Amino acid sequence: MTGHRILVVEDNERNLKLVRDILSFAGYEVIAARSGEQGVDLAREQRPDLVLMDLQLPAMDGVEALRVLRDDPDTRPIPVVAVTAFAMKDDRDRALRAGFDGYLEKPINVRAFPELVRGFLHSKEDPA
Ligand code: MN
Repeated sequence: MTGHRILVVEDNERNLKLVRDILSFAGYEVIAARSGEQGVDLAREQRPDLVLMDLQLPAMDGVEALRVLRDDPDTRPIPVVAVTAFAMKDDRDRALRAGFDGYLEKPINVRAFPELVRGFLHSKEDPA
């Protein structure tokens, strides 16, 4: 275990399983939400160290869920990274404008993913 808890918000079961497997294998504690609403609830209850947020979610999408998390002083400090489809350049631009701490691209690169995630954890903890 790395001691870090990561919340994955993803409505696609196959993507969710892949990300969960990769992060669990890398030693992270993984919690999963399948909607924006559930993601917000779990972030408030479980205080993850990082949220990986799919942008395309039914009902409350990733941008709206980010807004709710940033409006709440309790969840505001949690870094939130958008997970966007590689082809959707508009999504990446939208994510950065919306205030996400960064983005990761789908399809997930299994070998590179843990290192990319680690970078988002460290960027908050070690500003240097
Ligand atoms: Mn989705």
